[in-house]
Amino acid sequence: CGIFAYMNYRVPRTRKEIFETLIKGLQRLEYRGYDSAGVAIDGNNHEVKEKHIQLVKKKGKVKALDEELYKQDSMDLKVEFETHFGIAHTRWATHGVPSAVNSHPQRSDKGNEFVVIHNGIITNYKDLRKFLESKGYEFESETDTETIAKLIKYVFDNRETEDITFSTLVERVIQQLEGAFALVFKSIHYPGEAVATRRGSPLLIGVRSKYKLSTEQIPVLYRTCNIENVKMICKARMKRLDSSACLHAVGDKAVEFFFASDASAIIEHTNRVIFLEDDDIAAVADGKLSIHRIKRSASDDPSRAIQTLQ
Ligand code: GLU
Repeated sequence: CGIFAYMNYRVPRTRKEIFETLIKGLQRLEYRGYDSAGVAIDGNNHEVKEKHIQLVKKKGKVKALDEELYKQDSMDLKVEFETHFGIAHTRWATHGVPSAVNSHPQRSDKGNEFVVIHNGIITNYKDLRKFLESKGYEFESETDTETIAKLIKYVFDNRETEDITFSTLVERVIQQLEGAFALVFKSIHYPGEAVATRRGSPLLIGVRSKYKLSTEQIPVLYRTCNIENVKMICKARMKRLDSSACLHAVGDKAVEFFFASDASAIIEHTNRVIFLEDDDIAAVADGKLSIHRIKRSASDDPSRAIQTLQ
């Protein structure tokens, strides 16, 4: 129901500050209604390269999740992260009862290699789940969302090259999905990176940086806009950005990115926002945000989709 994620890139933040930002983001989305909440953050690791993702999930109010975060013994609140990506979610259950295990982030495996937050409904999740179970992937929740977490691991486990990008994995995943979704992914295999995408459910990205955008970054300007001007800018954008277009690079120095399903969670941080459109994949790597729109292929026929997976 509510998505909020925060990346600080070369902007030192303590774990406590990261918690506060994530919780505040979720609180801004509370008015939409929800039954449980959760976050994924980096475990205790003082380096940029995160080796361990920690999930904290709780049935009930965001306040209960907030209290739970501070109860985690393993969480040193003073640890400072120069770069960190944290994702947070409030769930309104559509598939599976409200419970900690069904709340998001959902994970690919017990090692939390890939974690995902999702708004919406995946209508072909049963077929996907059956396929993944036949390949030996074990499910722990009743959600449609868990199939996405398992599917990205399946694509990763079966990758043909070592250097496959995070956004390519996500692209392959969403080619298989039917239904409505806004998704944000985090992975131990791609430390300091983020991938977000949507189809049918809203998702926007806020950018905050002290640095001016350079001239090479001008293509981005028509997509970053003040919230008040959103309509005008988005129209201009739709004309320019066709299915194969790719936009590069917002910021490569100190920069912060805010991902949310609703502008109300971002507006206090920045008024430079980008609204994603259907089948846009937004990826942040090395502090740079690039967005491209995929061409849909097999996804209009789930049975064909599963064949192309095999
Ligand atoms: N369909 C997903 C679930 O039930 C996501 C629901 C939501 O948008 O919160 O877990």
